[in-house]
Amino acid sequence: MINFESVSKVYPGGFQALKNVSFTIEKGEMIFVAGHSGAGKSTILKLIAGITKPTKGRVMINNNDLSVLSDNELGYLRQHIGIVFQDHKILFDRNVLQNVLLPLRIIGYDSKTAEKRARLAIEKVGLGGRENADPISLSGGEQQRLCIARAVVHQPSLLIADEPSANLDRAYALDIMELFKTFHEVGTTVIVSAHDETLMQDYGHRILRLQEGRFAA
Ligand code: ADP
Ligand code: ADP
Repeated sequence: MINFESVSKVYPGGFQALKNVSFTIEKGEMIFVAGHSGAGKSTILKLIAGITKPTKGRVMINNNDLSVLSDNELGYLRQHIGIVFQDHKILFDRNVLQNVLLPLRIIGYDSKTAEKRARLAIEKVGLGGRENADPISLSGGEQQRLCIARAVVHQPSLLIADEPSANLDRAYALDIMELFKTFHEVGTTVIVSAHDETLMQDYGHRILRLQEGRFAA
């Protein structure tokens, strides 16, 4: 499904975040991306989401080279991707339900279907009953669940999460990992990064270990 072919990424300013990285992720796989801060985890996830482009090499999704897709084609592809990134902020002037509805509104769902889907997604992440809550009243772990509900509400076939457990206590971090597992179990391809590899150990899924832009030996 996802294929990195000798991918390098040099950011403006000259920092080389990825150095000749190649790997494949199968459809339906759950996979972790591990590594210290600055190792290149976010860069890998952003390349998969088509948010940034490789300097060298190719990123293929379903045999499409992302760098030759038009904006329309990229937009279409993104409708099948769910993204949990740290810079996708919750809107604090809207309630939980409205936050989750937003992506469906953008895709153009009618309001009845959208609301049904949004309520299901909220239920799925364990926030059932909190639909009308102000996000500010949610704990850190609950806010992360809200971000996950928003990412999965359009039922993406690929779910990408960049350090979703970064600011959580260990027990809550493990709960979040369990939640991602439930999406994997229904067939979604799931990619989750974390700097704490101990969160990934009990799953038996592949771990891509990054070290300074390369795979660690
Ligand atoms: P990680 O997610 O593992 O912490 P990143 O992929 O975010 O690592 O970053 C890898 C390196 O690339 C870091 O040193 C970071 O400072 C640098 N970097 C990331 N994004 C940019 C950017 N937009 N411009 C310049 N440098 C960046
Ligand atoms: P993360 O904790 O997810 O790895 P970072 O703290 O590395 O994220 O980066 C946060 C944001 O700032 C990202 O969008 C990244 O692309 C950008 N960024 C990171 N390092 C740099 C940099 N040296 N110059 C410019 N932008 C950067």
